Amino acid sequence: MTDGPEPSEPSPPTGERVAELAESLAEVRARIAAACTAAGRAPDEVRLLAVTKTFPAADVAALVDLGLREFGENREQEAAGKVAELAALRPRVPRAEIGWQMIGRLQRNKARSVIGWADQIQSVDSERLAEALASAVRVAIDNGARVDPLAVLVQASLDDDPKRGGCPLPDLVRLANRIEKFSELKLHGVMAVAPLDDEPREAFERLRSVMVTLGEHHPAARELSIGMSGDLEVAIACGSTCVRVGTALLGGRRLASA
Ligand SMILES: *Cc1c(COP(=O)(O)O)cnc(C)c1O
Repeated sequence: MTDGPEPSEPSPPTGERVAELAESLAEVRARIAAACTAAGRAPDEVRLLAVTKTFPAADVAALVDLGLREFGENREQEAAGKVAELAALRPRVPRAEIGWQMIGRLQRNKARSVIGWADQIQSVDSERLAEALASAVRVAIDNGARVDPLAVLVQASLDDDPKRGGCPLPDLVRLANRIEKFSELKLHGVMAVAPLDDEPREAFERLRSVMVTLGEHHPAARELSIGMSGDLEVAIACGSTCVRVGTALLGGRRLASA
């Protein structure tokens, strides 16, 4: 069980909070549907990843009750705790039904712990990180703790700001080739965050053309995780298959979080 100091009982979301989440979820789904229609795409081509960082497990439980199954987190420790709390809050929802995804910057020394809860890692941006993840998965397989390879996305940098993470576009295919060589990793595609002060469309279009090249070498790597609360429509027009939505679903974040 827990070994931290006095774990406070996660309070169940109030009816008011549940109603609020239901309303924002309906709005986000409507935005996705409208963007898909405008782009001539089917709405089921775009999955909704709820970004629950800084929000309590009780909110995740409410979103599970509302039908969501995929959640994104950006801090290893916070996420590990929340995954366990959700399991306690919703014991009848099988763990295998939930897809927890790491979307934040990851240190190599966290590789072992992150693969304990993350079903997909969207933020693989260097060979060294890929190697650390692969060897952590190898250890877990050898121990009998897991059987499947780890699903990963390579994170592309669209602003070449090393502080924001991501692999520069010219190096993306090489990183993908490297990942493919690890039998412990399964490359599903690419993730990116729009530049802070640029039009997202131009950056997303640049990424899309690199995706075409990537697809020639890695036909299974079709996931394109772009689009957040502020730019999901543009991202869907540019081919997004996964929008990562925090603020528009859960509200503003109180804590500073990358
Ligand atoms: C926080 C975060 C999001 C969600 O951003 P919102 O603008 O709140 O929707 C998406 N992707 C990444 C990588 C994030 O860190």
